[in-house]
Amino acid sequence: MLAVEDLSAAYGRIEVLHGVSLKVDPGEIVAIVGANGAGKTTLMKTIAGVHPAGGGRIRLDGEDVTRLPAHKRVGRGLSLVPEGRQVFAPLSVADNLALGAFRSEGDVAADRAAMEALFPILAERRAQTAGGLSGGQQQMLAIARAMMARPRLLLLDEPSMGLAPIVIKDIFRALAERHRSSGLTVLIVEQNVAAALSLADRGYVLETGRLVAEGRSEDLLADPAIQRAYLGG
Ligand code: ATP
Repeated sequence: MLAVEDLSAAYGRIEVLHGVSLKVDPGEIVAIVGANGAGKTTLMKTIAGVHPAGGGRIRLDGEDVTRLPAHKRVGRGLSLVPEGRQVFAPLSVADNLALGAFRSEGDVAADRAAMEALFPILAERRAQTAGGLSGGQQQMLAIARAMMARPRLLLLDEPSMGLAPIVIKDIFRALAERHRSSGLTVLIVEQNVAAALSLADRGYVLETGRLVAEGRSEDLLADPAIQRAYLGG
């Protein structure tokens, strides 16, 4: 579905992604894990088209989208949940969900019901403004809003950031459930290596702009070098 080949990206003259290659197959959950500053957010922004690629190629179902503007990538089925959530704070929870579906040709009412079943708090808070939600609830809303667009590939940038472990668990459980029930395909970047690899089928490790390891999640979780570097092992 997604194939990234030898991708580089820079801020001004400083290159922060150096030849990243990865793929995501339909129905997979793939995690890219790495420390603070490794380049995870830049990679997600470049795939989504909100940061330009310096070199290399991004293909979606074989189509080269490397130079396609972000909104056209949304039209191709890519949906990014950016770091830091970014819900529309003055709008209600219901309006946030409706905005997520504004280009959808699907059954919007059914999709909203599915999101409210997945995250029941969004039904309880339907009429409240998004800005009044807790951080965890805002993250749920941001994910639900992105899913209202019926993405073929959901890009998640550090959904666990700043959240309590119990809230992280809830969110990751919901993602796993959606993956099981509807075959949702996900590319997630995370600093929370244990949570991300527990959710994902496969993973890549990003260090200072380069992928240094890849494999099945259970193999990465069992790898002593990864345990030492990222899991406090
Ligand atoms: P974090 O977990 O902190 O978000 P990350 O892995 O997502 O980290 P990036 O945010 O992609 O990493 O940053 C990668 C590198 O690019 C870092 O060295 C960072 O300082 C640098 N960087 C990020 N954004 C900018 C910017 N707007 N201008 C200049 N340098 C930037």
